[in-house]
Amino acid sequence: MRYQWQFQPYRRRFKQALETSHGLWTLREGIILRLVNEAGNVGWGEIAPIPWFGSETLEQAWSFCHQLPSALSEELIFSIPNALPCCQFAFESAWERMKEQTLDNAAPQRRSGAEGEAAFVDEGLTLRPQNLNSQAQNSNIAVQNSNIAVQNSNIAVQNLTLRPQNLIIQAQTSIVAVPHSKTLAQNSKFLPQSSITPLQNSDIAVQNSELQPQNSKLRPPHAIVAVPSSIVTAQNSILQSQVSTINPRAVSPRPSLLSPLPPLPHSVLLPAGTAALHAWKPLWQKGFRTFKWKIGVQAIVTEVELLHELTQTLPPTAKLRLDANGGLSLNEAIQWLQVCDALIDNPNHSAAIEYIEQPLDTAQFQTMQDLSRRYQTPIALDESIATLQQLQTCYANGWRGIFVIKPAIVGSPKHLRQFCQEHLIDAVFSSAFETAIGRQAGLQLAEELGNLDRAMGYGTTHWLDDADIDDVEQLWQTL
Ligand SMILES: [Mg+2]
Repeated sequence: MRYQWQFQPYRRRFKQALETSHGLWTLREGIILRLVNEAGNVGWGEIAPIPWFGSETLEQAWSFCHQLPSALSEELIFSIPNALPCCQFAFESAWERMKEQTLDNAAPQRRSGAEGEAAFVDEGLTLRPQNLNSQAQNSNIAVQNSNIAVQNSNIAVQNLTLRPQNLIIQAQTSIVAVPHSKTLAQNSKFLPQSSITPLQNSDIAVQNSELQPQNSKLRPPHAIVAVPSSIVTAQNSILQSQVSTINPRAVSPRPSLLSPLPPLPHSVLLPAGTAALHAWKPLWQKGFRTFKWKIGVQAIVTEVELLHELTQTLPPTAKLRLDANGGLSLNEAIQWLQVCDALIDNPNHSAAIEYIEQPLDTAQFQTMQDLSRRYQTPIALDESIATLQQLQTCYANGWRGIFVIKPAIVGSPKHLRQFCQEHLIDAVFSSAFETAIGRQAGLQLAEELGNLDRAMGYGTTHWLDDADIDDVEQLWQTL
């Protein structure tokens, strides 16, 4: 099958120039793709390069787009060279969205199963059963031996874990059993959405239920789904509340283009320097709890003083990520690690330092590896793992710290999924200051593959003009 496509450049100005150790960034430029199949289903993609971060340049991406034919094949989309990682991300994610829309439009009836049953929706790369309602009375909640075998689908899932979303358990006084729960699989994980279990007279307990999935294995496409054994077992503990939410991210809906920033835990970028001391407050009031602050911008003495002020000013439950963008000298990196270690040792009601991000240049991988072993403060790699090939190299060279992945830069979503499903890594997914198109595709990967204990790095929309335009057609019309 061939897909018609169009592309247009975009430009968005930062409300305030972004100050990094690479200098000031004032303009976000990129390319939006519109991919259409024969049935008229549309998928959007975004090329959002950051060349100083390790991606192709905008000019290279533009030239690549220009030399492509007006109709694209799937083979062509999945064979874009690794030297063009932003193009890989954009074309593959446009293809994925188009496939999703095709399936949504082609079989809407399959999305709404009969009451009490989960309906599976094959979305090409995902299985998403919905409309789970379970009613049980007078028994133990125990979802056992729930075997689900779906044939002729694209995904094979092993060692699945259950990530309940919007799971509401209405418990009264007894023990309830749901023997054959239908679950909802999304993107290789079982993800019950809006599952409502009214229980009466029950004790409800969850035992051995893995609520934050790691290591879910995704086999190559065109395999058969088979979930070998029990997914959730609920026993032995008592949920006191009538409405129970299990994981902070679990209560959030899927990211939608209709909402600028889904109510998921995101970290939010503070301005560099003293401005951070005041900028955090309105962001805290909006619900952000993890903050990122750029370092290596001013003299280290000044910044260390500011850090002490900032950690004392922020509420003690706040977390702070320090991002050096590779701009520190070894001596400075050591100083920062010592300062942060001292804060960890003597928290003194101050905000916690979550990690230092990319303290040294990418060429100093081994030094960062050594530092990560010598100091308590965790180190995250960002620029060092800009592309999937770099990420794989760092992993192969023994990096087991934090990986900050920018999906828009890293390359092929398909290959990223394969890597993350084969290797358990501590991954934080992060924005590249994309429009809603790139952000939505990145958030989908973040939810699939990221470490759910860490905030995602998508709290950046307040930095850009018109970042809140989430109607994609409208966005397209403004280009
Ligand atoms: Mg960074």
